[in-house]
Amino acid sequence: GPMAAGATVCTTCPYCGTGCGVLATPDVSGGLSVKGDPNHPANLGRLCSKGSALGETVDLDGRLLQPKLHGKDVPWNDALDLVARKFQDAIDRYGPDSVAFYVSGQLLTEDYYVANKLMKGFIGSANIDTNSRLCMASTVAGHKRAFGTDTVPGVYEDLETCDLLVLVGSNLAWCHPVLYQRVAAAKAENPKMRVITVDPRRTATSDLSDLHLALQPGTDVALFNYLLAEIAERGAVDQDFVDSHVEGFDDALQSAMANNPAVTGLFPADLKAFADMWIGTEKVVTVFSQGVNQSSSGSDKVNAILNCHLATGRIGREGMGPFSVTGQPNAMGGREVGGLANMLACHLDIENAEHRHVVQNFWNAPRMPEKAGLKAVDMFRAMSDGKIKALWVMCTNPAVSLPEADAVANAIRDCDFVVVSDLTDQTDTAKLADLVLPATGWGEKDGTVTNSDRTISRQRAVLPAPGLARHDWAIIADVGRRMGYAEAFDYETGAEIFREYAALSGLAADMGRDFDISGLSDISDAEYNAMKPQRWPVTSKGPTGRMFGDGKFFTPSGKGRMLALTHRAPLSQPTAELPFRLNTGRVRDQWHTMTRTGKSARLTQHIAEPFAELHPMDAQRLGVSDADLIQLSNPNGEAILRVLITDRAQAGSIFAPIHWTGQNAPTGRIDRLVTAHVDPVSGQPESKASVTAAERF
Ligand code: SF4
Repeated sequence: GPMAAGATVCTTCPYCGTGCGVLATPDVSGGLSVKGDPNHPANLGRLCSKGSALGETVDLDGRLLQPKLHGKDVPWNDALDLVARKFQDAIDRYGPDSVAFYVSGQLLTEDYYVANKLMKGFIGSANIDTNSRLCMASTVAGHKRAFGTDTVPGVYEDLETCDLLVLVGSNLAWCHPVLYQRVAAAKAENPKMRVITVDPRRTATSDLSDLHLALQPGTDVALFNYLLAEIAERGAVDQDFVDSHVEGFDDALQSAMANNPAVTGLFPADLKAFADMWIGTEKVVTVFSQGVNQSSSGSDKVNAILNCHLATGRIGREGMGPFSVTGQPNAMGGREVGGLANMLACHLDIENAEHRHVVQNFWNAPRMPEKAGLKAVDMFRAMSDGKIKALWVMCTNPAVSLPEADAVANAIRDCDFVVVSDLTDQTDTAKLADLVLPATGWGEKDGTVTNSDRTISRQRAVLPAPGLARHDWAIIADVGRRMGYAEAFDYETGAEIFREYAALSGLAADMGRDFDISGLSDISDAEYNAMKPQRWPVTSKGPTGRMFGDGKFFTPSGKGRMLALTHRAPLSQPTAELPFRLNTGRVRDQWHTMTRTGKSARLTQHIAEPFAELHPMDAQRLGVSDADLIQLSNPNGEAILRVLITDRAQAGSIFAPIHWTGQNAPTGRIDRLVTAHVDPVSGQPESKASVTAAERF
């Protein structure tokens, strides 16, 4: 439960996937003071602007303090009965696939585990997907194709011990600021260290780089295919490693040699400089993030990067390897717990009969879907078509954040029954719901998260739950019990859920899977409460060494798999009517749809309103000056934004931030304009390559 006022609590920042440790101390006025936890391995005491403003975001202004049905207060009992009844009615009439959960990388692992268990094992559908689909799904697909499992091989220290850091589609300075600080400090100490940024846009991160490759949007496969061909051409293949530990080399190389690097739009001299540095430096880490993932060829981009590391044996060793940095605090935990429509718990696969069988037995579950459920974009399309009759949204705001956001909002509004559990009923999505349930938030919640380097940390309660707010896992378990599954959802503490999950991971590990925290399956409540940050795997024999350090992968052959890849252009192409490329992303001091960061005046000072970054030539052509308004429009919708003229943008490209919503800047809701093209393997939307018209407003 909550600590007495005044006691300092070690917890974890709820924003980016860096996963910084935070020391939070309640003050007498009900607020919090925060500082970086010097003992947390992710940040060693550092915090960024967002993390250090956490104390300014915990007031109860706008908080939802009790369940509301169509705007009227309703007791918890009635609310939970209603959810159970509406879901059961839909299942009885239309089958289990007529209901869906849309959840969040902000949920804690315990919440995620219970939601996934209810949907997959007891409702018997795999229609649970998460906003991590917008964030990391292409990496999951790429990892699984190459490694057999969704394993992140690297650890944060590798970002400091490498001699070359390549950042692909990652504005680390704004999106993972503490990792950026660590890199900047390492670079200052190691004069040999070089940084390359690969990004159509020059960003704050490029300021640190020795070489910035402003490639054409969506051409990363062509860039890394070029690199692979050069690796072979220059005799830099690690033949011993490839012979013993890699399959698919010949086909991958053949495709790479048929590649045309000119599509990147980069000068041959820049391409050569890139290859010189990458090939000439053994200790190279290639970090990738949303510029890679949010693409209709996202999973191929991931594999193009992994191909180069596999061909050179630069993986599973200190200071080298491919490294995905995740957007959200618990994107990794959500992946581990099987919170995606195509996964099962503990990195098991839903379409693998043996895996299903083990999980079903373990859960003593009455049913288990045999195929993947609807991924985010498809889930809301099915809702538009009337196929989803009941939807539960937890801790996320799809009416703002999904592509084609207007169509998503309409689908939610028209769905027969929608329940939203969140901190507030003032989000665009909650306003469309029939029923809103007050959930606890950061500072009140208690459980675990996994950051980008597989470190599991505790989030701990430091404030009391306000009003009638309850933990997400407890709300879900209560609904599960009401649907008739009393025994399976008989949880009283988060620790109990964690132990069950850890025990299941031991069975997964017995089947040769990577995710193993079975060493934590019998920890006491007190040990769970005192748990220090630790990187998985944590087996019954304690923590193990570096992932892939022995050259063994989790594929059937035990070899890492290289893939034959061909560049594919983004699915939307500029036309005479829609001549601009629209890129979307984050700003430094806001988080997602601003539910929390929007409360801090200090954070809002950095950038106070939505904007459009425009190249000077385009500004001139459109006849706009700095701070004018510009209207973007395409068949999906329109937006009106403040012009920010900068040569950081490529000519022909416009960048706009994702954070503003219908509640705080109705004309700035940019995901209205994003076309919902997805990667065919991962289902991740192409959020960085839509097309739009632009004119002075
Ligand atoms: Fe929080 Fe990320 Fe900033 Fe760390 S770097 S304080 S996890 S937002």
